[in-house]
Amino acid sequence: MSTFAELGLSRPILRAVEKAGYETPTPIQAQAIPTALNGRDIIGASQTGTGKTAAFALPILSQMVPGSQPQCLVLEPTRELAAQVEDQMNLFSFYRPTNVVLIHGGVGYGKQLDGLETNPDIVIATPGRLLDHMERGSIKLDKIKYLVLDEVDRMLDMGFLPDVRRIIDRCPKERQTLFFSATMPGQIETLANWVLNNPVEIEVGGRRSPAETVTHAFYPVSIDQRDDLLLALVDQTHFDSLMIFTRTKKEADSLAATLKQSTTEANVAVLHSDIRQSDRTKALAGFRSGEFDVIIATDIAARGLDISGVTHVINYRVPENPEDYVHRIGRTGRAQTEGDAFTILAADEVDFAKAVENYIGQKIERRKLDGFDYIYTAILDDSPPRPVRSRRPSGPKRRRR
Ligand code: AMP
Repeated sequence: MSTFAELGLSRPILRAVEKAGYETPTPIQAQAIPTALNGRDIIGASQTGTGKTAAFALPILSQMVPGSQPQCLVLEPTRELAAQVEDQMNLFSFYRPTNVVLIHGGVGYGKQLDGLETNPDIVIATPGRLLDHMERGSIKLDKIKYLVLDEVDRMLDMGFLPDVRRIIDRCPKERQTLFFSATMPGQIETLANWVLNNPVEIEVGGRRSPAETVTHAFYPVSIDQRDDLLLALVDQTHFDSLMIFTRTKKEADSLAATLKQSTTEANVAVLHSDIRQSDRTKALAGFRSGEFDVIIATDIAARGLDISGVTHVINYRVPENPEDYVHRIGRTGRAQTEGDAFTILAADEVDFAKAVENYIGQKIERRKLDGFDYIYTAILDDSPPRPVRSRRPSGPKRRRR
C-alpha cells in the first residue's frame, strides 16, 4: 500500500490526514488501518515515533457513528501521552466533528465532569482517574465498541495492570480491541490473551532496536567527573533541542540548577512527576515551541511523547532498565529525522551498560570527548579517543527550530 486513499478510510478522515500533511502511511499504519477497518483485534509492537497513534485513531474515527455514550476508550499510562492522543484525535476529526474528552489525574474534577456530561464519543484516559469517575458513576462504559490499550508495558511498569483489568471488565465483551506494547513480558501476554479475540499480530521493526536514524554512544568517565562531562557535552554539542534524562526527580532538579549556574546560554525546563501538572504542560509546550532548548526529564517523558525536532538526547546515567534506553533515545531520530544520543557511563553502571547491549543485541561505541580533561579511571581503558561528532553544521550553536 502506498497511499492513504488505498487503505479504505472514510472521506472526511482522509481529508483530515491530508490537512495534517501526511503523504504516505508509515509501515504500522499500512498494516493496522485496513486490519482495524475489517473489524479485527490487533496486537501491535512498534517502536516509538512510528505513527502508532494514527494507526489506531484513523480506523476508529472512520468507523464510528456518533451516539449518546462513549463508544471509544483509549487508555494511556501518562497524562502527557493521553493529552497528545487527544490532540491527534481532534486533528483527525476536523471534518467529522467528534466529541473527545480527556480524563487524567493531577487536575480538578470539574472540567472532566462537565466534559463527561456532554456524552463524548471518545474518552482518552489514564487508568486511576478513570476508575475514580467510574466509581462516582460519572461515566459508563457499557456502550464501548472500540478499546485501545496503548503502551501496555509502561502501564505494567507503573503498576496500572490491576486497574486496567477492572476497567476492561466493565466494557462490553462485544468490542474491537487494539493493543499496543513495545515489549511482551509474561504478564502482558496473559492480559493480551484475556482481552483480545483472535488478534492479528503487527510488528514493525525489531522490538528491541533503537531507531535506525539515531547515532548513539557511551561516554565513559570517572564517577566524580559525571557533572563536568555533562556540562562539557552540552557545551560542545551543536544541538537545536536537547533532552537530558535522569534516573530520579531529585537528580533532574539538581542538574537543572547546575546547568542554570553554568556558562551555557541554554534555556532549561524540567519535567517529572512531582512538578505540578500545569507546569509540566508549560514545560512541554515551551520545549515544543523552542522557548526552552533543553528539557531535563525522568522516564515519565521517555515513552511515546511526540516532541518533534529533538536533535540530541543525553542520558545522565545508564538506565537501569534496558527498555528505557531504547525509549529514551527514541525521543530523537523520530519520523526519519537524524538524531544523536549520548550516555554517560561511570564505573558503577557497567552492568547496566552490558544489559543494554545484550537487550539491543549490539555493542555500543565508547567515545571520548575531545579536549575534556579526563581523570584516569579503568573504565576509560577500552575506549579509544574519538572526537565528539555532530552531523549538524558547526555554525551558531543553538539555532531555533
Ligand atoms: P506517533 O508514533 O503516533 O507518536 O507519531 C510520531 C510522529 O509522526 C507524530 O508527529 C505524527 O504526527 C507523525 N506521523 C504519523 N504518521 C505520519 C505519516 N504517515 N506521515 C508523516 N508523519 C506522520
